[in-house]
Amino acid sequence: MNWFSHGESRMSRHEHQQSGTWLSSVGRALPPLGVVLLTLAWVWWSAVPKPAQLVLITIDTTRADRLSLYGFADATMPALERLARDGVVFDQAISVAPLTLPAHTSLFTGLFPPGHGVRDNAGRALDENHTTLAEVLRDRGYCTGAFVSSVVLDPSRGLAQGFEHYAGVLPGARREATPLQRRADEVVADAIRWFDGIGTCPLFLWTHFYDPHRPYEPPEPYRSRYFDPYIGEIMFVDAQIGRLLDALEQRHRLENAIVIVAADHGESLGEHGEEDHGIFVYESVLRVPLIVRLPGSLTTSGATGDSRVADLVRLVDVMPTVLDLLRIPALVTDGVSLTPLLDGSRNALGLEGYAESMYPRQLGWSSLAALRDNRFKFIQAPQPELYDLESDPFERTNIIRDHPAVAQTMSRRLGQAESRDERERTARSDHVDADVRARLAALGYAAGTSVAPLHAARPALDPKDCIAGYEQRRRDNTGLSPKGFCQ
Ligand SMILES: [Zn+2]
Repeated sequence: MNWFSHGESRMSRHEHQQSGTWLSSVGRALPPLGVVLLTLAWVWWSAVPKPAQLVLITIDTTRADRLSLYGFADATMPALERLARDGVVFDQAISVAPLTLPAHTSLFTGLFPPGHGVRDNAGRALDENHTTLAEVLRDRGYCTGAFVSSVVLDPSRGLAQGFEHYAGVLPGARREATPLQRRADEVVADAIRWFDGIGTCPLFLWTHFYDPHRPYEPPEPYRSRYFDPYIGEIMFVDAQIGRLLDALEQRHRLENAIVIVAADHGESLGEHGEEDHGIFVYESVLRVPLIVRLPGSLTTSGATGDSRVADLVRLVDVMPTVLDLLRIPALVTDGVSLTPLLDGSRNALGLEGYAESMYPRQLGWSSLAALRDNRFKFIQAPQPELYDLESDPFERTNIIRDHPAVAQTMSRRLGQAESRDERERTARSDHVDADVRARLAALGYAAGTSVAPLHAARPALDPKDCIAGYEQRRRDNTGLSPKGFCQ
């Protein structure tokens, strides 16, 4: 009260002394008390700690080992390098599936696919009864905006939950006019327009860049500049990420933002006979980039920029980490908070990564599931596989005969993860909108009517025996008859 009175009298005196100045004209327009109250409100608003904002960037179809910050030597990606310098790079971040929708759904729910029930791009959508990261932040007063670039993430597929603004590719009136994806520069322009119009509320911004997905057609000058068009696509996305970060910085949105960059899955690029992704669960499609850059306000004593974490982490850990960083109570998820790795208080959490591929079932083959730790990886298949990733990171030598006990233990643990299939607990519709199904098919995804749960009898056909004929059939464009080309 004393401070209040003092301020009022001081302003009155000041107004008197500065008669005829700008301040006095304001004083005449507003009663002195009003000026004081406005000043106090501003001082209070400035002093109140602002909640950190969240910028989540997902790059589709991007292998960690094709980024310069993961050792790729043929091109330097300045925007990602900048984030890496200011943040923490996870060297062994693992996706849950080689498909866009299941992987993103795990990112947003912290659940493995058996937990959230989204097993395929063309299967069921995420049910409303799940809680997404966007819903949590929206309920905490964040302005939430998503800018996605593929029909696979159409709002009808479940991830629009919690986003006040969700912009994807627009359905066209005629199917042939329906866009299936949009470029990163469009996504960034759209996102900037959005955050320029939301005032001062804390934001949760998600941008999704589909460009590195096949077909690899980077715009100029990236098309001419890079021999490998897949790298050209990544370089274009890097430039657009730089543009987005610059725009956030100019608006003072970056200094208080957690920035997370991840890929949903990688790309086989011919390894193991697979051209792109969706069938196998090898590291080429599961090991993804993950960069977490914290604002100064959240940087704890042990955390420094430009650091790397060698320990295995999963996409399901992103949501628990964000909630932990923002001091929001945890939800029940399959993930854990990675803050002990971020602040350096621990260098290993002993996590196991679960991943699955249900897409082969659309082709009449066995689904695949995998479990890995920091050293071994077990793949459940008609002919199961075990790899020592320390000595064989490209999974070239199946050592299952040499380590039957390891395989047996991992197989049992994998079975426990699979048994969480929520189809046992809920009976939900697998309905997929006919238009979305047609657009998925136009992207090259076979879209059957449903996907059976993993613990149902697995078809005997092993994708390993079928991939060569399958890829040949795709090259020849002679259709995807499922069985004829399996050895
Ligand atoms: Zn994807």
